Formats: sequence, C-alpha cells, structure tokens
Amino acid sequence: MTVRVRIAPSPTGNLHIGTARTAVFNWLYARNTGGKFILRIEDTDLERSRPEYTDNIQTGLTWLGLTWDEGPSFQSQRLDLYRQAVQTLLDKGLAYRCYTSAAELDQMREEQKAKKQAPRYDNRHRHLTPEQQAAFEAEGRQPVIRFIIDDDRTISWHDMVRGTVTWKGSDLGGDMVIARASSGGDIGQPLYNLAVVVDDIDMNITHVIRGEDHIGNTPKQILLYEALGTALPEFAHTPLILNKEGQKLSKRDGVTSISDFKDMGYIPEALVNYMTLLGWTPPDSTQEIFTLSEAAQHFSCDRVNKAGAKFDWDKLNWLNSQYLHKMAVPQLTNLLIPYWQIAGYDFDPVSDRPWLEQITALIGPSLVRLKDAVDMSKLFFTPTLEYEEEATAQLQQPGAADALQAILEALSSCPQLTSAQAQEITKKVSKEKNLKKGLIMRTLRAALTGAMHGPDLIESWVILHQREMDITRLQEGIKS
Ligand code: GLU
Repeated sequence: MTVRVRIAPSPTGNLHIGTARTAVFNWLYARNTGGKFILRIEDTDLERSRPEYTDNIQTGLTWLGLTWDEGPSFQSQRLDLYRQAVQTLLDKGLAYRCYTSAAELDQMREEQKAKKQAPRYDNRHRHLTPEQQAAFEAEGRQPVIRFIIDDDRTISWHDMVRGTVTWKGSDLGGDMVIARASSGGDIGQPLYNLAVVVDDIDMNITHVIRGEDHIGNTPKQILLYEALGTALPEFAHTPLILNKEGQKLSKRDGVTSISDFKDMGYIPEALVNYMTLLGWTPPDSTQEIFTLSEAAQHFSCDRVNKAGAKFDWDKLNWLNSQYLHKMAVPQLTNLLIPYWQIAGYDFDPVSDRPWLEQITALIGPSLVRLKDAVDMSKLFFTPTLEYEEEATAQLQQPGAADALQAILEALSSCPQLTSAQAQEITKKVSKEKNLKKGLIMRTLRAALTGAMHGPDLIESWVILHQREMDITRLQEGIKS
C-alpha cells in the first residue's frame, strides 16, 4: 500500500501556523513512508474563500519546503462529484430532505436550552410521507439534505496519536446536514463533512492526519464512509498550538500566519524546524536542530504528543538565530537586501555588494531575526545620527574633541581605511596626544555610532569610511 496523505486548507485566510504545522506532519509522514503528499484546497465556502488566500497558502507551503506531489485540486471544481454522492445516499435511504424552517430550528434550540439539553436536530423530518413533502414544497420551503445518524450507534477508531477514541451517536447532534437548501428538487451546495469524505475516498487517502479541532467530525465522517461502502483510512489528530495561557493560538496573540513570520525575519529552515518540534519529540530528544529531511527519517505518529503544544517565542528565536549565525555571509546578505530595500535605505545591490557583505559579516552574529538588521545597520545607511544621552556626554568629556580632531587629521592620509590602519590611528593618537586608549575608543564610538554599545568598533569605522560618513561624524562629534 502506498501511503497517501493530504493537507486540505480552506482559503478563508492566510496560511495559518496550525495548518502549516499539520502540513509539516503530513509531509514528514509521506516522506518517511515513501508515500505521496497531496494539496487540496477546500473552497466550498464561496463567500469566505478568496483566490489571494489560495495564493498565500501555496506560496507559504513552498517557502517552508513542503512540496506536494499532487494537486492542488479545488473542491469548488468538484461539486458534481459531491452531489452524486448525496444522490447515492438519498437513493439508499440513508439521507432525506428536511424542510424544517430556520424559525422552527430556532424554536427547537430555545426549548432544548430551557430544558438544559445540548442543541441538536430532533430528526423530525426523517420519515415524511410523500404527501407531507409535497405540502412543504407547495408552501415554497426549500429542503436541506440530512444524513441519518443513528443515536444508538457507538463509533470507535484507533487514532494514531490518541489511541482508541469512542463517540456515541447520540452526541453527534442528530441527523447531519450534508447539502444546503435548493429549489425544485435539486441538491444544494454540499457541505464540509460530505465533501471531505468524498474527496478522501476519490483521492485514495490512506491516512487522515489533521488538527485535533476536527476530532468531532471524525465520527460523522466514519458513518459517511460506511454509508458510501468504503473502507476507512487511518486517523491521526494532532495537538493544537496553544498560547502562553494555554488557549488555542489565535489572531489575538499577534502573528499567526506564515507570511507574517516571514515578514518578521524568520527563515523557513528555522520555522519549519520549530514547527516540527511543536508536538513531536524526535527519538533523540536532545537533538533540536535538524532539516525536514532529517526529521522525516525518524518521524512517526506515536511520538506526536496528545497534549496541546505551547508556542514558545524564545525557542523559535533561539532556533532562528542558530540558523542565521551559521549562514555564509553571501547567502545572508541575499536575505538581508530585501529588508534594507523595504526600509528605504540607499544602496545599489550590485555595485555596493562588497560593502553590504561587510555589514552582514559585522552584524550577522548578533541577529535573531532578519528584520533586526534594519535597526542594527541603520547607522551605515543613514547620514544623520541620533545620539544617545550617554554618547553626547562622552563627546563632552575633557580630551574628547582633541582626540577626534587628531583622528580626523590622521585619516586624511588614509583614503582607503583598513582595519589595521584604523587600529594604528587610535594607537598613534593615544601616544601623541597622551590620551588613554579607553577614552579614544569610547569617544570614537560615540561620534561614529551615536551609542556607547554596538558591534565591533574598528569594523564599523572601516565600513563607514567607505561612504566617508566617518569624516562628517567626526566633525559633528568635535562640535558637540
Ligand atoms: N478544510 C479543513 C481546515 O482547513 C481541513 C479538513 C481536514 O483536514 O479534514 O481546517
């Protein structure tokens, strides 16, 4: 048997971290077993589905390296298939037309509430006679199609993550709507549970690996498989991603879509690595940094945790920084250029390349996220400096102006400043002016960077010198 798994996002929003993590587990399972990973876009909700979300989902999966082997298929293009299945269920007597009006349903719910009962459909139209049906039709009522759910059934399956899961038919809310209302005996828009089952059967899906929020749909879907006369796939329900407070991660927690993480400067290798650890423990639990392919070698559903997975920003930041710190300068420069461009910094990506790589080499070891580079390198791109209070105070120290003046003079004989020359200048000024090296270095940092802390001073100076920004800053420093 070839394993066939799928990710089936609804394009009603950008690719969500929860969906992406489910995609990771499906991808890992497919690659571990030599199976196929299939993308299906569940766009039956016509009002909320948008093509830009479909694009965002595909771009996000590709960016994360979660390549799919088949698809995307679109549910909106397969409606006839679902309608045929609904017709089959009607023909078998396993589904029926229900004419209960919205007002009647409301009243039913109110009565149940008053009796402190769980809301459910009371199956009142399960056995209508042809005459009753005709009377409702004559009233102009448009029927939905309901699938019969036997209250006395017990539905059980062996979940690859959760072990045996059992539901009572009576907890499924009564006969389930599988297609919306339509006039003239037509079958209206087919609904989620029906469409998923028809697709999973048609696409020969062998393992349904999806978020725990779908666990209540599984017993209903199992009944549909049985009604359509098809063997069941395996099911695995993966833990939800939780916020610090232990609630499901939502928009209120800030970024939740993959494109937001990308914009913030997380790189796909780190994010996908982090997502793999969100709910899965590798056999060697001390190994935290790995590629998708490495994880695929060891992936199994029995090492997926049952409990919800808390989203840990510190861990994600740590992983991202590990990847950035190991990255080669040219590669990292390629990734930083778009952030510098978005920030509106003035540079030419081609002719300024060596200069940009020097900046990358300088700030790379301190980066946590790519976007951090914007602030960290601002002093190299923008002529005007904002001085921190401490820096202004440093520039007013006795001897500070003298030191800067002497540096400025020494610089005039160094059109192209190297690190060794820069070191040499500081030594020379210290000796000639009889000033402490510490005072010179602190004053130089204050004048060149406007701050008292930051990346390597000599390297920063060399970079600034290439745009002659050091000269103007030294002049400004003398005036302060
Ligand atoms: N379309 C569903 C969702 O986006 C997934 C359905 C499934 O995996 O069965 O949550």
